[in-house]
Amino acid sequence: MKKIGVLTSGGDAPGMNAAIRAVARAGYHYGVKVYGIERGYQGLLDEQILGIDQRSVSNVLQRGGTMLRSARCLAFKQPEVRAKAVKILKKHGIEGLIVIGGDGSFMGAKLLSELGVPTVGIPGTIDNDLAYTDYTLGFDTACNTILDAINKVRDTMDSHERVNIMEVMGRDCGDLALHAGLAGGAQAIVVPEQPMTPKQVLAKIMEGKASGKRSSIVVLSEGAGKAESLAKEIASMEPALDVRSTVLGHIQRGGAPSMLDRRLGTLFGEHAVKLLTQGIGNRIVGIKDNKIFDVDIVEGLSIKRHFDKEMYDIANMMAK
Ligand code: ADP
Repeated sequence: MKKIGVLTSGGDAPGMNAAIRAVARAGYHYGVKVYGIERGYQGLLDEQILGIDQRSVSNVLQRGGTMLRSARCLAFKQPEVRAKAVKILKKHGIEGLIVIGGDGSFMGAKLLSELGVPTVGIPGTIDNDLAYTDYTLGFDTACNTILDAINKVRDTMDSHERVNIMEVMGRDCGDLALHAGLAGGAQAIVVPEQPMTPKQVLAKIMEGKASGKRSSIVVLSEGAGKAESLAKEIASMEPALDVRSTVLGHIQRGGAPSMLDRRLGTLFGEHAVKLLTQGIGNRIVGIKDNKIFDVDIVEGLSIKRHFDKEMYDIANMMAK
């Protein structure tokens, strides 16, 4: 392969720039020309294609977001639209493609591979909702952003003897709440995989209060409820508690990537380029037991997510 493309698709995540940089620099090392495709599959259809070399990616390693920008492109689900995308890639002489995104983006990548364009996926999503890999790009940075917020909120909650329900991202996957909740010393962690009633959350808060805690932080996944309504329900059951709520929102998606995400983006990017230089496509890269690996797209996506109940139980054990 002499020319390859790279795009970011779906939700952005800190560390995507580190991966783009790695693709550009590894491409330079392995002697392939790299093209950056802006705005995901939509930009591919609109031919927003630009040559990038090792210098184009200077000074992006530490930046959040994605220098190639991202977009959703529902039309990409239509076969005739994908056929047009293949034609555009052929026209530019691009023989292989690297797609940085989540499971939706990987479906697009699989379908492109079936049309004869070897495509490799890099998992970029803060949710950590892809079971085939221990970690996705952006998860660690988002956890650290949540931790920083927990620390700040705790200062004021403790001064005023209050309870705060902190809502974090994660529609179907509670990993952000679980990992940041454990590291941040949450009194309760409420995730979609392990639902709790408001009464049960209240019981955890009261248990802490009875043992002398002045304040409590409850970390709630957005997929398990809304912070404001949970705060209201708890306050109505126990009027003596001063319960507040905080919704972290998009702050979790931005910011300078952590060391772990810069490292992961770099290693994923290099691995993806190496696969394409060998003519290998229809793969997604990941990290398992601290080793970078790749797996067939469909096989990887079919792996069922396993909720870490052991870690959840330990987090609860610590909330004493
Ligand atoms: P993520 O990649 O983060 O899961 P989405 O699910 O929004 O985000 O997918 C991103 C893009 O990938 C979509 O806008 C679309 O262009 C493409 N895509 C998603 N699902 C499919 C599919 N089944 N077939 C083809 N392309 C898809």
